[in-house]
Amino acid sequence: MKMHTHDSKECPYCSGKGYFQLLLGGSETCTCCSGSGKSKK
Ligand SMILES: [Zn+2]
Repeated sequence: MKMHTHDSKECPYCSGKGYFQLLLGGSETCTCCSGSGKSKK
């Protein structure tokens, strides 16, 4: 089951999180969506 979202598409790079989870620990802001987590053109 998937939830429908009313907002714009999620950023494909960070899966809508707005940041990347680093394997070494910590996180880095997604430069693609500037941390918003939403796909943007
Ligand atoms: Zn992103």
